[in-house]
Amino acid sequence: MIEFRGVGLTYPGPPPVTAFRPCELTINRGDFVTVVGPSGSGKSTFLNIAGLLDAPTTGSYLLDGIDTGALKDSERTALRGRRIGFVFQSFHLMQHRSARENVALAMLYGAAPRADRVRRADEALRRVGLAHRLDALPSRMSGGERQRVAIARALVARPSLLLCDEPTGNLDSSNADTVLRLLEALHSDGMTVVLITHDAEVAARGVRTITIRDGVLRELRADEGDEHGRRTRADEAQESAE
Ligand code: ADP
Repeated sequence: MIEFRGVGLTYPGPPPVTAFRPCELTINRGDFVTVVGPSGSGKSTFLNIAGLLDAPTTGSYLLDGIDTGALKDSERTALRGRRIGFVFQSFHLMQHRSARENVALAMLYGAAPRADRVRRADEALRRVGLAHRLDALPSRMSGGERQRVAIARALVARPSLLLCDEPTGNLDSSNADTVLRLLEALHSDGMTVVLITHDAEVAARGVRTITIRDGVLRELRADEGDEHGRRTRADEAQESAE
C-alpha cells in the first residue's frame, strides 16, 4: 500500500533542515500502524509525504504501486482524493451545518447527485455510530462525536488509507477511547490505518508501531522486549513520546 524507497525530505532553508532522513518502509493493506515521536521529530513531515501533500526530496514513494514522484500535480491531487482519507486533531467541521451536511459536502466535487450524497453520508455516519445524530450541529456534539463526524467525512470517499494526525489530541480519555475503538473496528473491517501521535498509550493501540526521533524512522518489532526486564514496545513508545 505504502512503500518508501529511500524516502527523505530536506527543507531547502537556508539553512537546510533534514526533517525526515532517508528510510525504507512498507505498510501493507489492512495494517494498523501508529507513528510516535516527540514534538519536532518529523511526524508531520512523514504525514505530509505519506498523504501526498509534500513530495520527498530524495527517494521514491509508491502508493498502491503507483510511483507518486512521476505524477503531475493534478494527478497527485486526484490520487490523494481517491485513496486517502484525512483525520486531524481539530475536527475542521462547519459549525452551522449538520453532521449529515458536513459529510455530504465532502463529496461536492464528485459527480454524485445530491440524493446519493445524502445516502452515502448517512451510511458513513451510521458506520461511525452516529445514526441518531444525522441532523445535529457540531456545536451540540461532544468532542468524540465531532471527531466521529470527521471520520465519517474521511470515509465517505471510500479511501483505501486513513491517515490520522493526533486524532485524540483534543479529547478526554473516554472520548479518545471511543474514537480509538472506532479506528480499531475500521481496521478489523480491512481499512489501512496510520495514526500519528505523541502519546505512548495511544501508540500502544497500533498493531505495528513506528518511532520517529530527529527525523529517523524506526520500527518497534512486535517481539522486542519481554518479561525478563528487557525493554518492551510500550517502554520504547513511551520513551519516544517524551
Ligand atoms: P513534528 O510533527 O514531529 O512536530 P515536524 O515534521 O513538524 O515535526 O518537523 C520536523 C523538523 O522539521 C523540525 O525540526 C522542524 O522545525 C522542521 N521543519 C518543519 N517544517 C519546516 C519548514 N517548512 N521549513 C524548515 N524546517 C521545517
